[in-house]
Amino acid sequence: MKTLAEMDYSVLQQCMHCGICLPTCPTYLETKEERNSPRGRIALMRAVADEELDITKAFGDEMYYCLGCLACTTACPAGVNYAELFETARADVEKKGVLASPKRDAIRWFALRLIFTRPRLLRAMGRMLWLWQASGAQMAFRKLKLTRLLPANLRQLEPQAPTVLAKFSHQLIKPVEKPASVKRRVAVLTGCVQDLVFADVNRATVDVLLANGCEVHTPPVQPCCGSLHAHNGDTDTAGELARRQLDLFDPFVFDAIISNAGGCGSHLRHYDHLLAEDPVYAARAAEWSRKLKDISEYLVEIGFRKPTGAATASTEVTYHESCHLCHGQKVSKQPREILNAIPGVKLSECAEATMCCGSAGIYNITQPETSGWLQERKLGHLRATGAEVVATANPGCHLQIANGFAQSGEKTTVVHPVVLLAQAYRNETGAAR
Ligand code: SF4
Ligand code: SF4
Repeated sequence: MKTLAEMDYSVLQQCMHCGICLPTCPTYLETKEERNSPRGRIALMRAVADEELDITKAFGDEMYYCLGCLACTTACPAGVNYAELFETARADVEKKGVLASPKRDAIRWFALRLIFTRPRLLRAMGRMLWLWQASGAQMAFRKLKLTRLLPANLRQLEPQAPTVLAKFSHQLIKPVEKPASVKRRVAVLTGCVQDLVFADVNRATVDVLLANGCEVHTPPVQPCCGSLHAHNGDTDTAGELARRQLDLFDPFVFDAIISNAGGCGSHLRHYDHLLAEDPVYAARAAEWSRKLKDISEYLVEIGFRKPTGAATASTEVTYHESCHLCHGQKVSKQPREILNAIPGVKLSECAEATMCCGSAGIYNITQPETSGWLQERKLGHLRATGAEVVATANPGCHLQIANGFAQSGEKTTVVHPVVLLAQAYRNETGAAR
């Protein structure tokens, strides 16, 4: 990947310093400091490209203080490609090693290079976590207050550990499933966290596709999409994972490749850019990007069948937009269209629906204070709607919001829109999948 100094200079020049993005930027809203704004960060990146500024620890900290939520790209009238700037800047920071420390390096190696490049190992770890939770060991550990023996940062994270499901995607979904009458052929991406914690969302995704005449291909072992790597400056591994993904799914044989996780989808649809200079994979990556669709986007595109049954959940629903679904993929009205199509669902809009909830990949681990501030702000807006169900389409947002409600003892349910749609199809009289 090119560095800031090597990249197309016109991308660095797009910002015209108008400041329209400032009120949409969560970090600027928190501090009111210019350097914590999109405009300020772009000025720093340009100074690095112009060799007026060295890549220092302060520069690295600023790039990692940014959530990468891309709210600035939606607000910007000049069409600034902040996603490219942000990933290039973080890759520069990693190449320079200005934030390196033995602990940080070990964590990055373990997570980015070891766990999230090996789906079978990730599943084995998920299975161990499931055993720990399902056997009651976790509850006993908490009741005996043994969490105080953990190091401070782990102690803080422990209550946020996601509940792993008993069955993962490959145990719920056959490699190929066909509806009674096949109109289209699609592939479904099962994700990493989604596979272990929200395999039910993957099952619901397949169910709604089957209900709409799609033959669904879901390879049982899938590599990580590489979004975590790209957002954390490890573009080499991100490229490697994209190639593995392209080896597993031939984009030329499918009508669409379906993602149901906002953060993954935002990265997945840019494989064309990531592999543009790869002579072997560029054409395949371009076809992939053309066909990569979020599940809500695809359902609306094919004119999904409106269910006649109701979802079993409460009918008062509000919708939180995943940053990478609305700002990264510009998919905003389609999930609402799906929710509004479900009989009995009453959609109440919440304030600041497109503002980040503070999850942002691993931001809630690396910047707990800002993440917590954003989480509280989000929960306040969601509570104000009075809805008992929050719909959202990204596993990070789902966990962040569900954890926030659980910590304050509230019973609000968090659910992916396709889960409600799948329930509604299931509840149709005499419905068969
Ligand atoms: S990506 Fe989000 S946090 Fe970063 S500069 Fe843009 S709006 Fe601000
Ligand atoms: S809105 Fe766009 S052009 Fe204006 S300051 Fe922000 S990034 Fe620059």
